Amino acid sequence: MFEVPALPYAYDALESVISREIMELHHDKHHHAYVEKLNAALAQYPNLQGKNIETLLRELNTLPGAVRTAVRNNGGGHYNHCLFWLWMAPAGQGGGGEPQGALRDDIVSRYGSFDAFKEQFTEKALTLFGSGWVWLQPNMDIATTANQDSLLSEGGDEPVLGLDVWEHAYYLDYRNRRDDYVKNWWEIVNWRTAEERYEKLSK
Ligand code: MN
Repeated sequence: MFEVPALPYAYDALESVISREIMELHHDKHHHAYVEKLNAALAQYPNLQGKNIETLLRELNTLPGAVRTAVRNNGGGHYNHCLFWLWMAPAGQGGGGEPQGALRDDIVSRYGSFDAFKEQFTEKALTLFGSGWVWLQPNMDIATTANQDSLLSEGGDEPVLGLDVWEHAYYLDYRNRRDDYVKNWWEIVNWRTAEERYEKLSK
């Protein structure tokens, strides 16, 4: 059975950018619903229950049709949100600033500067139609997926960094202003998490 992990900070810890109200709904209701539906879908497939979420998403296209959509949507939602919580930290207390080390070097060598990377990532977030995610991949590509789709299901690597641009992630605070949400989100990005992931994933 999959479970929603506890947030690694208080619900109001990101308040300068994302309100407690959004964090409570997003974590306790949205993420919880993905996990509940994923577990319900897997209940009839004991042979799938021992697999971790990454494996289920990587093997998505080989899963029985009756469970495939549930894993795609709810398994993807669980995987994406587990990571999303770790990619944020309170502004000035682990959140914000710039990446260091190999991640910074490789961002700069691909995009010319950290600011140019931020601009391109932001552009992808603002032009993504509807609901989905923006990713920084270990090969330094910026990619997007619709809904809760995972690049793992398309043979891709695990993401170094990702941003949830579903309206449920920002609408209560920002209404239709996705641009302000994305601009402010940089102030709470936990680059230490991204650096650790990059070190692991780029080996
Ligand atoms: Mn979300």
